[in-house]
Amino acid sequence: QAKVAGKNCYRFYSRAMDQAVERRVHLEHELRGAWDRGELSLVYQPVYRLGDGAMVGAEALLRWRHPEQGLVAPSVFIDVAEQSGLIETLGPQVLRAACQDAVRWQHVRPAASEPLFVSVNVSPRQLRSGDLPNVVAACLHDTGLAAHNLHLELTETAVIGDEIHASNLLARLRSTGVKVWLDDFGTGFSGLSHLRRVPVDGVKIDRSFIADVLRDPDDLALTTAIIAMAHSLGITVVAEGVEKEGQYAVLRERGCDLAQGYWLGHPVGADEFMTLLG
Ligand code: C2E
Ligand code: MG
Ligand code: MG
Ligand code: MG
Repeated sequence: QAKVAGKNCYRFYSRAMDQAVERRVHLEHELRGAWDRGELSLVYQPVYRLGDGAMVGAEALLRWRHPEQGLVAPSVFIDVAEQSGLIETLGPQVLRAACQDAVRWQHVRPAASEPLFVSVNVSPRQLRSGDLPNVVAACLHDTGLAAHNLHLELTETAVIGDEIHASNLLARLRSTGVKVWLDDFGTGFSGLSHLRRVPVDGVKIDRSFIADVLRDPDDLALTTAIIAMAHSLGITVVAEGVEKEGQYAVLRERGCDLAQGYWLGHPVGADEFMTLLG
């Protein structure tokens, strides 16, 4: 009996696995032409300065509207793009579009206001390809966006492994004026040691810390410690996933520099973001 059930179980799982693999291959195939078919677009989530509440920039987030499946989560398709190597064409397209949009923002803002930055996520594979400084330079040159208005967000996984290569690349990028942020900070085990070797301008505290900052004294202690540590190294701190006024208040009180989250503003399409500015 048990043996039969076991065998069925095995079959069931292997079928489920086959289906998962099949779905990935399918997605990869469809993702290949998605940009040219206009199915991919960027949304922008505003970033605010906690000190005076001013909007200072926005993070570009990629969306895929699949003709049959509707919105596919970035956690799914970015991974497909990364594994398949598609990110090496998609990444530069995203970067260029984000720079173009950021140039448009400066035109609708009053002349006296400080320019907004655009923050673009860069995947591990893009960093490893080594071509990133050239791609970035070309985008800035062609769009006319000032280097200091472009921020690149990297995760710890992007710098793990080859830290010498990563820190050389980041140093090259930063020497042109582009800012580099470490995304999802605090989720890896070696965040602190990376900061010693990898030069960055700022860290984004992962939203899992922010989620419980009002209820869990440990999360508050860690968040406060990250802020203090970053400031002692002279780098900026961004909190992500601010969903409540209370979280905003406590982050502000602890001296966090910047914040983003649903309470402050959801990601919106490029046109809607322009309206928000105008
Ligand atoms: P991330 O860079 O950490 O982006 C923040 C994610 O948190 C976004 O999810 C955003 O929509 C979501 N978020 C913002 N505020 C809140 C909040 O208050 N509460 C909650 N629960 N979530 C909030 P999204 O857009 O689904 O993106 C997921 C991840 O996919 C991103 O995480 C990033 O790692 C990756 N990604 C998105 N666009 C790109 C891209 O153009 N290139 C690359 N390489 N990765 C991207
Ligand atoms: Mg990010
Ligand atoms: Mg993040
Ligand atoms: Mg994340």
